[in-house]
Amino acid sequence: MYGSARIKELEGVTTFSKALREQLGEAGLRVGRQPVHTSVEAKDGTQKYLLRLADSRLVETVAIPALKSERQRLTACVSSQVGCPLRCTFCATGKGGFARNLQTYEIVDQVLTVEERMGRRVSNVVFMGMGEPMLNLKNVLPAIRCLNEDVGIGARHITLSTVGVPNTLRRLAEANLQTTLAVSLHAPNQRLREQLVPSAKAYPIEALLQDCAQYYAVTRRRVTFEYAMLGGVNDQPDHADELVQLLRRTRHGGAHVNLIPWNTVEGAVFQRPAVGAVRTFQRRLERAGLGCTIRASRGLDAAAACGQLRNAHQKEPLAA
Ligand code: SF4
Repeated sequence: MYGSARIKELEGVTTFSKALREQLGEAGLRVGRQPVHTSVEAKDGTQKYLLRLADSRLVETVAIPALKSERQRLTACVSSQVGCPLRCTFCATGKGGFARNLQTYEIVDQVLTVEERMGRRVSNVVFMGMGEPMLNLKNVLPAIRCLNEDVGIGARHITLSTVGVPNTLRRLAEANLQTTLAVSLHAPNQRLREQLVPSAKAYPIEALLQDCAQYYAVTRRRVTFEYAMLGGVNDQPDHADELVQLLRRTRHGGAHVNLIPWNTVEGAVFQRPAVGAVRTFQRRLERAGLGCTIRASRGLDAAAACGQLRNAHQKEPLAA
């Protein structure tokens, strides 16, 4: 029923007979958006919503409107799971535990909620909210198809972000979706990566990068690498040089790296990196021939990092 993605009342599903609609209504079938439990807005217009699901679980969705230079853009940052089982050490979502995967409709619904609340069409979707989307491909892949074919968002404007889950990049390549893939490296070597991303123990960094090269060979879609910069941990010039060597060694010599200066999370041990350290890191990558951007902080005052708003309202750690 993807063609009916924007419908909010059972009455609007006119492909069903009136009798069937009444029958489904009596059986308790609900059509429409998940209610917004809480919302916060930053000075730059970024809005973060906590949506209440049918089982009372809460998930975060963020609406990121254009900066002045890119007026048409409205990005929805969506969640793919309630919580996350991977527990990256710097992530508020990981600290809150894991309950379950989101259903396809619960993912699409987040984008439609952003459209309704912002009063205009979403142009871009990023799977960078709560959860690891590659652990929920069963629902994420149909959601991407629905967003593309029924909601009308260009496949190349949909970005799937992952820390890497063994044996999933091949599946994504085979789905032939033309989406953008962003792989979160966060470290230039296996030892440091395991400290920051515990799940990396099961997926050595070189194997992950080889799978990325294979993904490119099959799809001809370049992989972007994300690198969360943690002050004094992975933001030094030596780390930049090591990252260059690693990417060259694994056939990603012309890759694009997106640096993400880390937002402080309440109770976390990590620090935001110094502005100078981030610039130096960027210069070293660029001098080595890599593309490199620094992600602008958006909505810093709107409950900041992913997972923080949910943790503030759902105090008990999640359990599956
Ligand atoms: S960074 Fe992503 S994969 Fe890691 S714990 Fe947070 S949501 Fe999960």
